[in-house]
Amino acid sequence: MAATVLVVEDEPAILDLIAYNLKQAGHEPLCAESAEQALQMIANVLPDLILLDWMLPGASGIDVAKRLRGHERTRNIPIIMLSARSEEGDKLLGLETGADDYITKPFSPRELNARIKAVLRRRAPQMTSDEVRVGDLHLDPASHRVSAHGNDVKLGPTEFRLLHFLITHPGRVHSRTQLLDQVWGDHVFVEERTVDVHIQRLRKALEPERFDSLIQTVRGTGYRLSAS
Ligand code: CA
Repeated sequence: MAATVLVVEDEPAILDLIAYNLKQAGHEPLCAESAEQALQMIANVLPDLILLDWMLPGASGIDVAKRLRGHERTRNIPIIMLSARSEEGDKLLGLETGADDYITKPFSPRELNARIKAVLRRRAPQMTSDEVRVGDLHLDPASHRVSAHGNDVKLGPTEFRLLHFLITHPGRVHSRTQLLDQVWGDHVFVEERTVDVHIQRLRKALEPERFDSLIQTVRGTGYRLSAS
């Protein structure tokens, strides 16, 4: 389960150590030393998860979490708060602010990895390698295979990621911008028309087994995978 993880931490030694551990665990770390820098990075690319230090110079981790939860585009990014303070009240405040989990420093790489995995499984099922299905359409992230009524469906890598995201969020409408953020990881430098092209390819690949109608166009809004 490789994820792009944004680490926001003002102490360079801790930041380096966490980034090193994330790389060792197969993740791609992005590093920010302040809330401002973090928000700037998020404006370009949505990370899969954020490790957010509580005590930062300027805006605090709590401020950042509140800000992210207050905006449609960033509302669903999983956040794990890092704190040197272990008081129960702090933990509650962190979780109330919208963090998904809370870790007290110092923590072991093993503990951090376990927490990351748990939060991703809960909040970003498209990041995990759990097998998913809708009716007789199966997608297995581990073997990178899709089958419909037992027959192999050949998909390009982008169509695979697109289907994986849609199938793990059934019934919800996603705008092109959201799909670019979630599937391409970039909503600034990729054109929205790109999404339409890959949706068409995905439908075409699903057509022989009549699963193409699963991918619905919601006029003026975006796309949805039918839940029924
Ligand atoms: Ca700090």
